[in-house]
Amino acid sequence: MPGTRPRHICAATARLPLPLIVLVLDIVPDEPAHPMEVITALRCGLESHSTGPHFDLVRELTDASRGEVWARWENGNEPDRVSVLADCPADNGRPGPSNDGCTLFARHPGGHSYEFSDPEYDAMRTSPAYEQLKAEIDNRLR
Ligand SMILES: [Zn+2]
Ligand SMILES: [Zn+2]
Repeated sequence: MPGTRPRHICAATARLPLPLIVLVLDIVPDEPAHPMEVITALRCGLESHSTGPHFDLVRELTDASRGEVWARWENGNEPDRVSVLADCPADNGRPGPSNDGCTLFARHPGGHSYEFSDPEYDAMRTSPAYEQLKAEIDNRLR
């Protein structure tokens, strides 16, 4: 009987090297970034894959219609390219609060982000430590 294989995130990690961080800061000439806005600890957001480069978002642009800044890297190497890529337009088609849009870039390989799971994120979200942190933040905001 054919079963459905659980689908999950790639999650390969890398560090954004300094020359690329500098590039990301000025990648959109009329919207320079603060170094704190650049994500340097990368984790591939694509669905688990055995070929092709890894990708992670390194900077969100203020004008989201422009897309976001993504870094790419080959397995075992440090990131070698950053580029502004349009957002993936797909969503899960459900109405209201259960609507979930894909968080990846347009024409990405593999499934949309809502079609596979991120076990680390799920574990973090359901951990007692996270519940406690959330309660503390809610308290402070009250
Ligand atoms: Zn990957
Ligand atoms: Zn997508």
